[in-house]
Amino acid sequence: MSASLVTVSYIAATILFILSLGGLSNPETARRGNLYGIIGMSIAVLATVFGPSVTLATGLPWIVGAMVVGGSIGLIAARKVQMTQMPELVALMHSLVGLAACLVGFASYVDTSIVLTGAEKAIHELEIYVGIYIGAVTFSGSIIAFGKLSGKIGGKPVLLPARHVINGVAALVVIYFGYAFLQAHSIEAGMTPLIVMSVIGLLFGIHMVMAIGGADMPVVVSMLNSYSGWAAAATGFMLSNDLLIVVGALVGSSGAILSYIMCRAMNRNFVSVIAGGFGSGGGAPAKKSGGDAQPAGEVVSITAAETAELLREAKSVIIVPGYGMAVAQAQHAVYEITRLLREKGVNVRFGIHPVAGRMPGHMNVLLAEARVPYDIVMEMDEINDDFPDTDVAIVIGANDIVNPAAQEDPASPIAGMPVLEVWKAKTSIMMKRSMATGYAGVDNPLFYKDNNRMLFGDAKKVVEDVIKALA
Ligand code: NDP
Repeated sequence: MSASLVTVSYIAATILFILSLGGLSNPETARRGNLYGIIGMSIAVLATVFGPSVTLATGLPWIVGAMVVGGSIGLIAARKVQMTQMPELVALMHSLVGLAACLVGFASYVDTSIVLTGAEKAIHELEIYVGIYIGAVTFSGSIIAFGKLSGKIGGKPVLLPARHVINGVAALVVIYFGYAFLQAHSIEAGMTPLIVMSVIGLLFGIHMVMAIGGADMPVVVSMLNSYSGWAAAATGFMLSNDLLIVVGALVGSSGAILSYIMCRAMNRNFVSVIAGGFGSGGGAPAKKSGGDAQPAGEVVSITAAETAELLREAKSVIIVPGYGMAVAQAQHAVYEITRLLREKGVNVRFGIHPVAGRMPGHMNVLLAEARVPYDIVMEMDEINDDFPDTDVAIVIGANDIVNPAAQEDPASPIAGMPVLEVWKAKTSIMMKRSMATGYAGVDNPLFYKDNNRMLFGDAKKVVEDVIKALA
């Protein structure tokens, strides 16, 4: 493939990636967006592999072999993964982007075929240094995020004493060794600062994500997404691959915008979340709630038949799905009950919290899969004021996102986070299996409110029981 054909292919791929991002911003166009992304990536890979910079002598068989092995692993992983494990898989993939940036960085540093002098050499080495650092932070941070999302590492923040001082000193050491690296006159002399910086980057990634409280994980997930984009862009600079630079910048900037949206949705300051300490009740290790006392009130349970009775009387219903709906795979049953109630003339709508579930858009994807009409699926800001005029609010496997402690208890680890105010409805019904806390590990006073009822059981089974009782 000639160089000019590769350039044209890269431009086509870039346009497709931009169209893909545009498509993914709306559930109705998301499939099309995905398709654009797949076509764009196929063009990008083919143009790179069959372009002039890859020849039989420069390792084409190795590349094809690696693509077959990597592609097969990816295919098996994607087919096997449960929907609830998607966030972990994404975190793991971010870690691979970080690892790739580190490996490419070291490889291009020791590559003796690249002969540069003066400013060009300095710029190339700066690209390597920054690229490896971003890659190392992304790699270790994403591994810890994987551990936290999969439950292998506890969700509570681990806060080292004087962590801000540690971060500050680490930043200064990285800058100092960066200077030493740029001054080094041989590969051997430059290797020590590069390795020291990589180790600091790895430790910083671990420290940063370990310090994040459960409820603030969405910000970290989207931030690592952004880092993986910048790591890819850095790799593009090191390899002088324009497409990788553009694609990395697209992922990096869209991830950064997502992080900003997440921070705004959670009423958090981005810098404070990254520095750690949020989700910990103001610096101390996370407590179950702001105070030690059990919330006032009594827990009242309800049966599926009684729930059906309440729904039969209702004129307006808001359904709030959460992570438990994904675990129970209850979305199809939820669609059924929605259809049944709408046929009876009940105004049924959905209230979606921006961080419901375990990944951005998690609930929207599940509801779209179950063919719930988009026009009754509302964002939190669109529907929160409507709860006082609502007869029944049904909370299906959600917990943190409907926790009134966020508003009522300034000492709570989730204080200040906007939540769906289901307790303002005439009756709220919590469908969950037990009195257990949600991801943030915080007690929920909603369980004890006078107008709240607990419908215990697996979300899918319970919704199906209510459907039977309704029918
Ligand atoms: P939560 O994790 O707060 O609560 C989910 C609830 O679902 C649990 O309390 C659990 O209670 C219940 N549950 C689990 N399995 C079932 C089941 N089979 N049937 C019925 N109920 C079930 O989820 P939310 O969606 O309310 O909140 C999301 C949390 O995750 C927030 O803290 C958010 O910050 C965090 N997060 C979000 C990310 C994102 O991008 N969206 C990423 C990372 C973290 P029980 O065991 O009693 O059934």
